[in-house]
Amino acid sequence: MNTSSILIHPEELTKKWIERTKALGYDALALHPRGGKRAPETLKEMLDWLKTPEYRSLIDYAKSIGLEIEYEFHAMGYLLPRELFPSHPEYFRMNDDGERTPDSNFCISNADAMNIVKENAKKLASSLYGSTHNFYFWADDIRGATCKCEKCRKLSPSDNNLIIMNEMLASVKEEIPDAKMAYLAYQDTLDAPTSVKPLGGIFLEYAPIDRDMTRPYSGQGENIAPSIEKIISFFGKSGSKVLEYWMDNSMFSNWQKPPKKYEPRRDVIAADLEFYRSLGFERVSSFACFLGDDYEALYGEPEIVELK
Ligand SMILES: [Zn+2]
Repeated sequence: MNTSSILIHPEELTKKWIERTKALGYDALALHPRGGKRAPETLKEMLDWLKTPEYRSLIDYAKSIGLEIEYEFHAMGYLLPRELFPSHPEYFRMNDDGERTPDSNFCISNADAMNIVKENAKKLASSLYGSTHNFYFWADDIRGATCKCEKCRKLSPSDNNLIIMNEMLASVKEEIPDAKMAYLAYQDTLDAPTSVKPLGGIFLEYAPIDRDMTRPYSGQGENIAPSIEKIISFFGKSGSKVLEYWMDNSMFSNWQKPPKKYEPRRDVIAADLEFYRSLGFERVSSFACFLGDDYEALYGEPEIVELK
């Protein structure tokens, strides 16, 4: 694979993590504010830290030793503020019962809502201190949580997701012409879109969250390789990236602190890397959350695996 990166929570960023990532041969360190219900708040918190000299000096240090910085997060609750719901319920998604709800995502057929998301995406891209021009403004968790209004319900979750990413990318490109935007293939969006084409600069990010982490992914169903081949051929291999959970101690701890002791499955990682490489992915990454200072206080230095 051409490049590799690792994702940690912004509150876990330390000089030590930066040096460890560099020493293991990673090309980039990505900051990933926590998802779930509090995603808009954790993103805002990180944006506040990015304005401080202390936090900026950590980012500067990473870049000075040759490590790139990226930011990956669930963004919709931030891009379309949930506080708009009482005055503009029509901006928000319709659930299966035909009711508008601000719980996640939004009504992509509403032009005003889309414009707010696009404008905020443009501002957000410029406020990610030291970022590469690869942007990862993911939809909220998308298991059955797209809009079910008369217009949106005709779109598959994958088409729905690609429309949002295309629109945001076009907006971000007005400020940053060489910007690229991830299409996160995840939960309901693992299948290739059918009625929408990707704008130039959209790249595939493949994150199989429902897989079994205790055995190689390739053996987990006959359809896995063909479905990945299909989605890679739709988006193209250029910039295609795997986002794995091999070191995601937040997942292994069921997203609850205190963290559990982490034991890497090097056999699974090696087999998976070979599998992804054979499918043509160019970049590889893994979450490595819940392995910060509090982890070290409990268990000592975490064992981080290089991904080459
Ligand atoms: Zn809708």
